Amino acid sequence: MRSSRYFLPVLKEDPSEAQVVSHKLMLRAGMIRQLSAGNYNWLPLGLRVLRNIQQIIREEMDRTGALELIMPTMQPIELWQESGRGGYGAETLKAVDRHERTLIYGPTHEEVITDIFRKNVKSYRELPLNMYQIQWKFRDEIRPRFGVMRGREFLMKDSYSFHTDKASAEETYINMYRAYLRIFSRMGLKAIPVQADTGPIGGDLSHEFQVLAETGESALYYDKAFEALIAADQPDVEAMRKLYSAADEKHDAANCPVKPENLKQGRGIEVGHIFYLGTKYSAAMGAKVLGADGKEVVPEMGCYGIGVSRLAGTIIEASHDKSGIIWPEAVAPFKVGVVNLRQGDEACDRASEEMYKKLETAGVTVLYDDRKESAGAKFATMDLIGLPWQAAFGPRGVTAGTVELKNRKTGEKHEISAEAAMNKIMGK
Ligand code: ATP
Ligand code: MG
Repeated sequence: MRSSRYFLPVLKEDPSEAQVVSHKLMLRAGMIRQLSAGNYNWLPLGLRVLRNIQQIIREEMDRTGALELIMPTMQPIELWQESGRGGYGAETLKAVDRHERTLIYGPTHEEVITDIFRKNVKSYRELPLNMYQIQWKFRDEIRPRFGVMRGREFLMKDSYSFHTDKASAEETYINMYRAYLRIFSRMGLKAIPVQADTGPIGGDLSHEFQVLAETGESALYYDKAFEALIAADQPDVEAMRKLYSAADEKHDAANCPVKPENLKQGRGIEVGHIFYLGTKYSAAMGAKVLGADGKEVVPEMGCYGIGVSRLAGTIIEASHDKSGIIWPEAVAPFKVGVVNLRQGDEACDRASEEMYKKLETAGVTVLYDDRKESAGAKFATMDLIGLPWQAAFGPRGVTAGTVELKNRKTGEKHEISAEAAMNKIMGK
């Protein structure tokens, strides 16, 4: 992609409406723009990140055997009356259609998936079944804030599982717990699973996945031993499950099993939440299957959410410096920025174009800054948007047959041949 043809409205100054660093940087880097309170446009650069986040989630969900589907955003309110929830409290956004029927813009999809299930699944042989979607949700949050962290319209991965018994539901619950740790770790995040309240979703067992951050909205208590466990590349799930951790509402100082000197208190950003639901929805909505003995069974359920759009902000909270974002490779909007330091200079143009084309041919995503801007402005933009690599061609280097390759994360720079730079970028 050529910068001259791209839509990248970067801002030099911190926008006054943003309080947290991720919100500031997402606006400054031209990733998002607010349309109305808690409602964001995802501009081309932001959308690339959102897509990469979704891709990691899809790969890991597919790996667990979960099946992707998509359900409508607009749901008939009758389903919510059947389940007994009635709606989603003050956060419910309603609309009335031309037949005077009330629809809810889905804040979550337990009712819809249970409706699919009861109409289509007949036998225990079809279980367990775990289905997920990546879909926009609407919750009329009282205080939308921090940009995409607490939006009103936001993107969620939500899955729902069905089982003949509790043991099977628990097995899937643990598989999701494990998959979630892998998903966050692939994005460069260290998430702590904490015991949580089930809120309006219901059920009696649940964990939130919390990324430690000062700006996090949740207060947490956890065993100090989590620190070593979450630092590991391959999280030891068995060890983690034995440790104490709880969200504010669940924490009970009087009955806490952890010695005060080993109990850590912190703030976190909730990036995921898993629930064991029991038969709350299946029983209320009349979902049942024929069991092995020919008797009807009301399926046990679980549901598992990830804040996809919130993750984009969370990754930035966890990975930035004073110059801008530092994208982990797995979610970076482009892997490399090729910077032509003297656009219009024949030798610089030729060298930059050649590298740009070679990288694209090799399947590497590249943003090629071919604009007539100062070197300083180009570097500032590259630092701000945080691509993992920058390859800069200037007159002196081009004469010597070299490019300046910079690693955004370490700040290391090397004057090397274009070929050596390509190899480094491609990890050869
Ligand atoms: P919170 O406590 O932050 O309001 P929640 O517990 O209501 O979230 P869940 O119903 O568990 O949210 O939804 C699953 C995931 O969706 C959350 O873990 C979070 O990452 C994300 N999420 C929830 N609400 C929002 C929102 N308003 N904006 C962005 N992401 C959200
Ligand atoms: Mg939650």
